[in-house]
Amino acid sequence: MKKYDVVIVGAGIAGMTAAIYLRRAEKSVLVLESGVIGGQIVSALEVGNWPGEMRISGKELMDKIYHQMNNLGAEIEYEEVLKIEKNTGVDRDFLERFLVKTDENKYSCGAIIIAVGTEPRKLSEKQVLSAGSRPISYCATCDGALYKGKPVVVVGSGNTAKHEMRYLENIASKVYHIHHDEPIPEEAEAVFAAIGRVPKTQFLNGLVELDSCGYVKAEEDGRTSCSGVFVAGDCRTKKVRQLVTAAGDGATVAETVNSFLDK
Ligand SMILES: Cc1cc2nc3c(=O)[nH]c(=O)nc-3n(C[C@H](O)[C@H](O)[C@H](O)COP(=O)(O)OP(=O)(O)OC[C@H]3O[C@@H](n4cnc5c(N)ncnc54)[C@H](O)[C@@H]3O)c2cc1C
Repeated sequence: MKKYDVVIVGAGIAGMTAAIYLRRAEKSVLVLESGVIGGQIVSALEVGNWPGEMRISGKELMDKIYHQMNNLGAEIEYEEVLKIEKNTGVDRDFLERFLVKTDENKYSCGAIIIAVGTEPRKLSEKQVLSAGSRPISYCATCDGALYKGKPVVVVGSGNTAKHEMRYLENIASKVYHIHHDEPIPEEAEAVFAAIGRVPKTQFLNGLVELDSCGYVKAEEDGRTSCSGVFVAGDCRTKKVRQLVTAAGDGATVAETVNSFLDK
């Protein structure tokens, strides 16, 4: 089984920033990613608040960060982490403190960084039933073009729903708007759900303490309730969930992990 100083779960901006800092400190790093490199921002056509870039697409920004991480020698595998176990064996060495099980492999490491971000909140069972066989999408920029000239409906009342509506208004023949739990109008041919996001922390299964919404409870430096397990980015308890704060978490947690490993 391969051993690493640190395994990072998630290659969004938080995980990749942590990997950059840890590689610069000469730690061996494995990043595990179950979806797309770059995480949730990859679907954003424009980011306007990343310092130093007037306008850049989410994908372009994440590609730059990925190349920097790659260039520094962080390893990456496209696997989903299903379980993390503490190894309590008395004769284990330090890099066998944790066992990380993915859909394909097992790895051991001395410290873990959870940087799994959030995913779109799913529609209620009632709304899924009312959609019937009509497709349900959670990303207008990804799937909107499939419904050119057709009537669609956006579900949700927050800023994301408004953004999805504006985007679809240039493509669809008509954009209906309903709130969470209202029935899907019969005229719509596709459903775009924008009813908030939830942390992807179910797989942690009691390893660390979560708050009532499923975010990992953490100190400012990224420490969690379990020694050796750290957290960064949108999946942690915090006030502002944005690119710069996720990158900041990644840098902070890397420094914390580095001191933890050196001790
Ligand atoms: C449409 C949209 C537009 C946005 N626009 C802006 C903007 O303009 N400016 C701004 O500052 N912020 C914006 N944000 C918010 C910003 O994208 C997030 O704050 C930031 O991307 C969070 O980064 P992260 O690394 O914490 O998580 P994420 O980007 O969610 O990355 C987490 C990664 O972990 C992976 N993962 C999850 N579970 C597992 C597992 N079990 N095993 C392996 N991998 C796993 C996921 O596949 C994902 O790639 C936007 C978000 C969206 C959705």
